[in-house]
Amino acid sequence: MLNNVYENRREQMFPTLTATQLARLEAHGLVISTVQGEVLAEPGERFRKMLVVLSGTIEILLPTVDGEELVTLHTRGHFSGEMSTLRGQGSVVRARVREAGEVLVINEEQLRDLVQTDAELSELFMRAFILRRVALIATQQGDVILIGSRHSAGTLRVQQFLGRNGFPYVNVDIDSDPTVQGLLDRFHVSVDDIPVVLCRGKVLQNPSNEALAGCLGLNPLSDDAKVRDLIIIGAGPGGLAAAVYGASEGLDVLVLETNAPGGQAGSSSKIENYLGFPTGISGQALAGRALVQAQKFGVEVAIANSAVRLHCEQRPYAIELSNGRTVRGRAIVIATGAEYRQLAVENIPRFLGVGVYYAATYVEARLCKDEEIIVVGGGNSAGQAAVFLAGGCRHVHLLVRAQGLADSMSRYLIRRIEDSPNITLHTQTEIIALAGDSRLQHITWQSKGSKAPESHDIGHVFLMTGAVPNTAWLQGCVSLDDKGFVRTGTDLIADAHVANWPLTRAPYLLETSMPGIFAVGDVRCGSVKRVAAAVGEGSACVQTVHRVLNE
Ligand SMILES: Cc1cc2nc3c(=O)[nH]c(=O)nc-3n(C[C@H](O)[C@H](O)[C@H](O)COP(=O)(O)OP(=O)(O)OC[C@H]3O[C@@H](n4cnc5c(N)ncnc54)[C@H](O)[C@@H]3O)c2cc1C
Repeated sequence: MLNNVYENRREQMFPTLTATQLARLEAHGLVISTVQGEVLAEPGERFRKMLVVLSGTIEILLPTVDGEELVTLHTRGHFSGEMSTLRGQGSVVRARVREAGEVLVINEEQLRDLVQTDAELSELFMRAFILRRVALIATQQGDVILIGSRHSAGTLRVQQFLGRNGFPYVNVDIDSDPTVQGLLDRFHVSVDDIPVVLCRGKVLQNPSNEALAGCLGLNPLSDDAKVRDLIIIGAGPGGLAAAVYGASEGLDVLVLETNAPGGQAGSSSKIENYLGFPTGISGQALAGRALVQAQKFGVEVAIANSAVRLHCEQRPYAIELSNGRTVRGRAIVIATGAEYRQLAVENIPRFLGVGVYYAATYVEARLCKDEEIIVVGGGNSAGQAAVFLAGGCRHVHLLVRAQGLADSMSRYLIRRIEDSPNITLHTQTEIIALAGDSRLQHITWQSKGSKAPESHDIGHVFLMTGAVPNTAWLQGCVSLDDKGFVRTGTDLIADAHVANWPLTRAPYLLETSMPGIFAVGDVRCGSVKRVAAAVGEGSACVQTVHRVLNE
């Protein structure tokens, strides 16, 4: 199994450095002697060094519940490491000396210096690190085991957390895996305890994201006393763009993220309108690349670290985290995005992008051409979507909770809906169940007044029920619009908050009502709610961050 995964791109995954490259590297590290059997890294250990083999051999092993699997044997000219080496995260594998010899030890700082300054070695190392991590994930082996059920929401949350953070794990489904009873007995857990994560010898029952991140060593060790140049809250496209630009321009950047890098975009199966990707790119692949890029420039990313409060009474600004810690920054970028209002249907995340959509563009319209579809919502966005989709779909069912559309939708749209023979309005109606295998196939709705729910073979639901910004944690620090989105730049004119603006200059384009606090992407009032827009704003705001830091 391991061999198949590693064989495909072995040359790129485990390249051999030339004598010239080895000579160039020697200035960046320290040569040490190794002893046979010596363990140089253990899983979970924050192993901040890359080892370049000069003589002797080092075996790289993946511990499993049944022992060890050999990943590769490093000989002269080979180097150790994968993405965790550059991120300051806990190691995923074990490194042990098979034959004594000499290795060149390059620490994290020296490695970062190298990948930023030596283009040839940077490409070689970065490609190898990324491919090694991808292969580790593909093996579906290791000493982190999730015992769960596809019918449990807790299992799905843990799967999403591990998957979106690119962490290799073994998935054991109690409903179908024959090995499950043995594992349950061995670790003294029962079916009622699921989801259970067996994490490096510890048994974690329905662990929080924070507990998982702690056990896996996902976050670098951080110095809270340090005042950062820039703290970015949210690692969606907007936050990651600000991080890459900030760190590549010399700023000390910390990113805080509740869940996993990628934000909403990370849940998109294919983004087809992002410039430069003519065949589309999955949100997770885009996020993974952005994260690697950010970390190459030295950005510190703290996963499962939610901002719960912003203290803006004095500078540097302070941010309180869900784990009780406080971090401080001279400038802040709010990139916490928005959450689309979801239906109260448990399995909805399973069908995101494969039957459930939050946008009705030409891309989605193509997916449901000539089919029967549902649009949920009573506002203008729902009305526009229904009319637009009715142009290509066989039939559109417009579902609203209210008694009608008059209070929430423009009259011109209501008239168009009434004039469209293939749109049916269902008032006081809600979806109560979704079903399907790899994609949505059936839905059930319930109308007030009718006793029995109705089931239909419909595979496309457009949720046009509006987005709620993630701004509760700002608690009055910066000016928000009536829906809770952050006001920036010219939107602040005539705003009562600006009466307290302390500077003679006006707020910059993406600056909030507090100097040095910026907002980018979907969280910003008037934003376009697109990946490219969030990336553009995140990148652009860094220029004004520099100006603020020099004020
Ligand atoms: C299913 C889906 C498909 C989409 N498809 C497309 C598409 O094809 N093309 C396109 O252009 N756009 C698409 N979009 C829209 C696009 O994803 C968003 O516009 C974009 O992700 C916004 O980026 P952002 O960085 O502003 O915010 P987000 O992506 O929302 O990221 C915000 C991040 O902040 C984190 N966060 C929130 N609160 C806190 C806190 N208190 N502390 C720490 N972290 C916090 C969140 O966990 C999240 O990771 C899609 C959206 C969805 C939901």
